[in-house]
Amino acid sequence: MTTWTERPNGHSIPLTTPSGVDRAAHHRLDEAWLAAAWSHPTTRVFVVSGGQALVDDTPDGRTELVMTPAFEAPVTETHRYFLGTDADGVRYFALQKDALPGRIDQSARPAGLREAGALLSERDAGLLVHAVALENWQRLHRFCSRCGERTVIAAAGHIRRCPACGAEHYPRTDPAVIMLVTDDQDRALLGRQVHWPEGRFSTLAGFVEPGESIEQAVVREVAEEVGVTVGDVEYVGSQPWPFPSSLMLGFMARATTSQIQVDGEEIHEARWFSRDELRAAYESGEMLPPYGISIAGRLIELWYGKPLTP
Ligand SMILES: [Zn+2]
Repeated sequence: MTTWTERPNGHSIPLTTPSGVDRAAHHRLDEAWLAAAWSHPTTRVFVVSGGQALVDDTPDGRTELVMTPAFEAPVTETHRYFLGTDADGVRYFALQKDALPGRIDQSARPAGLREAGALLSERDAGLLVHAVALENWQRLHRFCSRCGERTVIAAAGHIRRCPACGAEHYPRTDPAVIMLVTDDQDRALLGRQVHWPEGRFSTLAGFVEPGESIEQAVVREVAEEVGVTVGDVEYVGSQPWPFPSSLMLGFMARATTSQIQVDGEEIHEARWFSRDELRAAYESGEMLPPYGISIAGRLIELWYGKPLTP
């Protein structure tokens, strides 16, 4: 039996499957353990900066994060994040710096999750998404939301503490829903966002509002963006999307009306597609396939029944 995280061609969806790294959260407050782990010769460290890290191609054609032992890592007074340990006992850290280090060799290059997420192993993609999510949260939450004082990093990057009022602040994740809507003829509803290029159609999506269930958010967002009413809503799976801090919650939703009225603010254009119409649009170049890393592509493939791209 295939699961939703497997594409029809057998590949897994980036960022959705277990990475093989245990986050080992119980060590985060143990400074002596963290110091010993940092200086252990098998420990591996990479630098994250602006959502990017250095990646390199291996001789056998894979792409991996460029990681070094801690003693080779750049000296930093800035943030050190403990990301976890793997089954072999290797400990992983990310250093957050203002810039990435110089390239180690010709093929090493800076890359973010959008470019490298689908190329990296599950372990490396998991490490990078964890580090990027912490970096984004640290960057945007430097001051206490209770009293306004500057906060300090704690728990190996997973807490910020306020020295003035004692508040502890934890990394936040913003739930967002993303849904493939189908009608009674089993056509799929795809829309083009206002800022997307011509031909880029994908599933509808939006943020969950305060005091709202995720199922309610699906119904509301579809109604707001394209004026269609949906009834049955089925949860499919999730994907971390730290741009800057979203968690994408994927759904299949069944429409009870078919008249489309786009809002013109978020969605510029929306259409119902049969499978034949979608295939023809891709083959003619009229439509661009969804980004490889995105859960949106997987939702469309679940409906379509086979890979959209090789
Ligand atoms: Zn405070």
